[in-house]
Amino acid sequence: MIEVCYYELLEVDKNASQDEIKKAYRKLAMKYHPDKNQGDREAEEKFKAINEAYQVLSDENKRAIYDRYGKKGLEGQMGAGGGGFGFDFGDFDSIFDSFFGGGSRSGSRRSKQDKYNLDTAISVTIEFREAIFGCKQEVAYKYKKPCSECNGSGSKDGKRTTCPDCGGSGQVFLRQGFMTFSQTCPRCKGEGEIVKEKCPKCKGYAYEEVEEKITVDIPAGIDDQNRIRVPGRGNLSKSGARGDLYIVISVKEDKKYVRDGDDIYLEVPVFFTQTLLSETIKFPGLRGELELKLKPDTKDKEQFVYKNEGAPNVRTKRNGNFIVQIKIVKPSKLTDEQKELVAKLHESFGFEGKPHEKEYEGLFDKIKHWFGY
Ligand SMILES: [Zn+2]
Ligand SMILES: [Zn+2]
Repeated sequence: MIEVCYYELLEVDKNASQDEIKKAYRKLAMKYHPDKNQGDREAEEKFKAINEAYQVLSDENKRAIYDRYGKKGLEGQMGAGGGGFGFDFGDFDSIFDSFFGGGSRSGSRRSKQDKYNLDTAISVTIEFREAIFGCKQEVAYKYKKPCSECNGSGSKDGKRTTCPDCGGSGQVFLRQGFMTFSQTCPRCKGEGEIVKEKCPKCKGYAYEEVEEKITVDIPAGIDDQNRIRVPGRGNLSKSGARGDLYIVISVKEDKKYVRDGDDIYLEVPVFFTQTLLSETIKFPGLRGELELKLKPDTKDKEQFVYKNEGAPNVRTKRNGNFIVQIKIVKPSKLTDEQKELVAKLHESFGFEGKPHEKEYEGLFDKIKHWFGY
């Protein structure tokens, strides 16, 4: 196997924060999860690799070792089974839950007779503007329904046999030093039985996928990684009930505006003479032009807050603030004429134009006195 750098796998920078790593992993895990890529070996390999990378990079200790010594440095760390990463494949939904705190959802929403969770999730990317003002999006996705050939059993003839990996207990044991951990058997998923001969149509997965399109109202103020629940659009159970579809929103970044919750930040470049002349400048707010009167003492990086001009809160609908940060721009060179003008201006200030002299007035004499001149 070719070794790919963990950072490259997660498509993040070497200095990425834990937040960025988590976000990147969440996106990729959703994309490559085997549930979403039935029978696709490449996606499965990629999914495993992403998980391995995440296990290391999300743990600051392991990450530090990896940064210094590479994968080799971690070999002693990686638990049971000769350096393997003990990643439990898990359901798509359990990964999902671990990020969103879905709680009891996946447990309760999966009836015994179904081979898959009834709730499902997709990721939808929208523009910055669409997130602020809301939009309608046509969303195409696939949901699962019981395989029509085997009636959702995954078995060719309906026969089942004891799982050879766990001997029917549904549990496998991992030994690590003195301790033994039990884990749900990954082969039979804890059922203790596997199908004897796989259904040729669904290859034992027990489901087929149906494509569906819906139009979703995305509410104004939605933020990156928010999710929208669409009831009754998830996977179809043998019982005829359908789970829910979760739409995880990914918001594209804007080149100029920066969003922090409901607040919007904009950096406005200002030429230094504009502040001296107390000019009034105009700049684009989210809902139209905003104005700012500069003053001679307006500072670089100074912030001005426009209340209620930010993004609407997706729940309360109250607007956040719009915050303008000044960036003072100065010329790197002056023409002779400009120098003359500035010199004139400078002189007009007299003693006020030499604050350092004012600051140290009398200090030179004092020092001379110290040394007994
Ligand atoms: Zn088993
Ligand atoms: Zn089948």
